[in-house]
Amino acid sequence: MSSNQIDKIRNIGIMAHIDAGKTTTTERILYYTGKSHKIGEVHNGTATMDWMIQEQERGITITSAATTCRWNNQVINIIDTPGHVDFTIEVERSLRVLDGAVGVFDAVSGVEPQSETVWAQADKYKVPRLAFVNKMDRMGADFDNCVNEIREKLDKKAAAIQRPIGSEESFNGIVDLIEMKAIYFPAESLGSKIDIKDIPEDLVDECQMYRDELLDNLSEYDETLTDLILNDEKPTVANIKAALRKAVIKDNFIAVLCGSAFKNKGIQPLLDAVVDYLPSPTDRGELHGHSIKNPENTEVRRPEVDEMFSGIAFKIATDPFVGSVTFVRIYSGKLESGQTVYNPIKKKRERINKIFQMHADKRTELQEAFAGDIVAVAGFKDTTTGETLCTENKPIIYDLMEFPETVISVAIEAKTAADEKKLLTSLEQLKNEDPSFTFKNNQETGQLLILGMGELHLEIIADRLQREFNVGIRVGKPQVSYRESISGSATENNIFHKELAGKVQFGDVTIKVEPADYQAGVQFESSVPTKQLPQNFIDAIK
Ligand code: GDP
Repeated sequence: MSSNQIDKIRNIGIMAHIDAGKTTTTERILYYTGKSHKIGEVHNGTATMDWMIQEQERGITITSAATTCRWNNQVINIIDTPGHVDFTIEVERSLRVLDGAVGVFDAVSGVEPQSETVWAQADKYKVPRLAFVNKMDRMGADFDNCVNEIREKLDKKAAAIQRPIGSEESFNGIVDLIEMKAIYFPAESLGSKIDIKDIPEDLVDECQMYRDELLDNLSEYDETLTDLILNDEKPTVANIKAALRKAVIKDNFIAVLCGSAFKNKGIQPLLDAVVDYLPSPTDRGELHGHSIKNPENTEVRRPEVDEMFSGIAFKIATDPFVGSVTFVRIYSGKLESGQTVYNPIKKKRERINKIFQMHADKRTELQEAFAGDIVAVAGFKDTTTGETLCTENKPIIYDLMEFPETVISVAIEAKTAADEKKLLTSLEQLKNEDPSFTFKNNQETGQLLILGMGELHLEIIADRLQREFNVGIRVGKPQVSYRESISGSATENNIFHKELAGKVQFGDVTIKVEPADYQAGVQFESSVPTKQLPQNFIDAIK
């Protein structure tokens, strides 16, 4: 990939409520992009089928913070965004470096609380989005209801660009409302074969109606389309695609698609839509919303893509194949293996030993990487998550990410003296990777405490200590030390925010309630453990 191909890059995240099908959708995307399928192409060799079944059984899992794949000569970098509320902060750091996102919804459950949370976070960073209504094969799947909920709960500017053909068990294809064609995904081909046909007769009128509605909607954002419609001229497919691309990128219009990842239906058209409607790094440009300063704290202009190197380290991780790496989103210039870059926060030079592109099943070593790319770099020593890397003689700083205070702790202790030795260095490394995690000694008891954003978060830390770092530990019960986060439906909590924001007195307990915009929850501080909080307070937020 060279710098003049920046327009062929899509840096996207896939975000969803837990269980909506984010993992399955991502796996299918990696699967279809790993093989060179073209729409309409038929694969019927047994070798291919065996390979596919094996792959399906094994499942391709995202093993990396960013995974690179290719679709129709475009590069798609998928940046991992966890779905569980404990990792909302991880979502935040991903959102900061991606250019577009796909929101995955469950066609039965519609818009769920965590979808609202991630949606609000994506709004904060003005990330252009597509919505994929997954699980159309499930009993009770209701596409129209889901589209309505997206409009009502998330975004008024949303419209379907597809219609499902069949429903629940008999869901077998989609109508593309822009091309006005029916796309079928024959079950026996595991999605490797796609049939494009005319829209079934009984659906033509209905689809025409939805198409007119879509064009009406879009014409609000595009003058060419408005003029054509006013002059009674038929917009071409190219006219509509151009208008939709503009509306999605500039006006955060949400194009809604549907399918069933599990049943291999709808993934290829979703990939086409990612390429057609989500922004390239240059489209996104200024919309990124980073404030950029020099080390003297004066605001400076964003460097052009072909100027000096600048980028953000957005995740530090231990990769099973290549070891400790820092994931970097390059905003301008280029990175070369062996080169030294500058970290203006730490005031340190960092040497790039190796640059990798991470794929689903392999890592490719690169000699250089360019603006728009997302790569993993080996060799950094002092850089932590969120810090800018740049050129020493023109230092700039992209605004730092803020990390909220931890809300829960557990006591841990090493099993043996040998474990004791490894424990602190391992915790230090974990803290470097994950700034929403920390550890300290309890002053009163002398116990070592690990602190994080939720029970699951700490469970994973404890698990990693044992499995990845081979440290034998005993883990105590989770304790809410003096700060607790309670999550529930964002709607309920919004009411709760309004009623209770500020300091609230319950008997002799004063509780400070503060709206927390990074998760659909309420952060509150109290001088007493949660167990002793007044029942009516607990009831109010449950
Ligand atoms: P995540 O938590 O959002 O990553 O969701 P997963 O991808 O792990 O999916 C959650 C569950 O839903 C799993 O049991 C999947 O097999 C199932 N699932 C995912 N996609 C579909 C689908 O399209 N249809 C049906 N019926 N189940 C699905």
